[in-house]
Amino acid sequence: MRNKKFVECSKCGKYIPIDELANHSKWHSEQESSIDENNTKNLKIVKILEKSRLRRIRIKIEVMTHYGNGKCACVKCGFSDIIALTVDHVNGNGSNHRKENKYVRGNHIYEWLKKNKFPLNYQTLCMNCQLIKRQENHEYTNKHIKEKPK
Ligand SMILES: [Zn+2]
Ligand SMILES: [Zn+2]
Repeated sequence: MRNKKFVECSKCGKYIPIDELANHSKWHSEQESSIDENNTKNLKIVKILEKSRLRRIRIKIEVMTHYGNGKCACVKCGFSDIIALTVDHVNGNGSNHRKENKYVRGNHIYEWLKKNKFPLNYQTLCMNCQLIKRQENHEYTNKHIKEKPK
């Protein structure tokens, strides 16, 4: 059956039998309109997410600036990329804080700090400095544990 005529579809480049081309292009336009529909739905969701994200970022900046002594930056090294900044409990008892406030987790800590009028003993640290600080504390406890059995 070599005498059947095929045409190259301008949309997907497939060779389509000429008598199916009409159906095939109809299928393409249906696909496209459903993608458009999904996209507008997604765009709406993205916009809503962005709004709440912006609100959260604004709170985060406010909290970081407060605990960064007036600068939205790490108090140790001055790093100022908001994505890598966190609040750190000065005395390292973040676990106590978490126990006291079971519902404060992740980004909610910024809202919590703001709502509680910026409690003392927190500081703005970048991930790097926080990691270094944790490492130092961790090494200390490790040594402590290792030396105990001797
Ligand atoms: Zn096609
Ligand atoms: Zn730092």
